[in-house]
Amino acid sequence: MSFYKNFEEYNLKATDDVKEKYSKIIEGVGEDVQREGLVKTPERAAKAMMFLTQGYKQDPVEILKGAMFKEDYDDMVIIKDIELYSLCEHHMLPFFGKAHVAYIPNGHIVGLSKIPRVVDVFARRLQVQERLTHDILECLNNTLKPKGVAVVIEASHMCMMMRGVQKQNSVTTTSGFRGQFEKQETRNEFLKLISSNLS
Ligand SMILES: [Zn+2]
Repeated sequence: MSFYKNFEEYNLKATDDVKEKYSKIIEGVGEDVQREGLVKTPERAAKAMMFLTQGYKQDPVEILKGAMFKEDYDDMVIIKDIELYSLCEHHMLPFFGKAHVAYIPNGHIVGLSKIPRVVDVFARRLQVQERLTHDILECLNNTLKPKGVAVVIEASHMCMMMRGVQKQNSVTTTSGFRGQFEKQETRNEFLKLISSNLS
């Protein structure tokens, strides 16, 4: 909670700027920004936008390094079905879905909750799904220096669903593999594990 409070205070000036610009957007689409339902909308929208892009001010390396532990475990660690919400940088519309992340430790493991946090840090920026996948992959690879790392993201893009081609049910899948996951056998094991339903 204290993080959110700090974050809000720190961003007062930027939020104010964004708020002014949202007023202009609302006028630009032909609405009356003084209408009762819209009076507070620029401020709310600005706060939401600052929240959704807070990843620019967060350091994923620091998050990982704060929870790395020496450990001999060297089998695959998989965190699957990590909820993901991001904004496409072309339309600033949401894309959302799931990330599946795996790594094979090389002397160090990392607190499990940190991996979803790293996903969030990169997702809460203006993104394309391809770069988001690689940002997560490279950050884990360079910081944990594991024997291997794998990232798969499946997401639906509002810019495709609400406009343009209006493909409501299409899901875009991106993936990246480093180290041992570049071997087909290891990669297949990972892909089998993320698509199986154990529960
Ligand atoms: Zn888009």
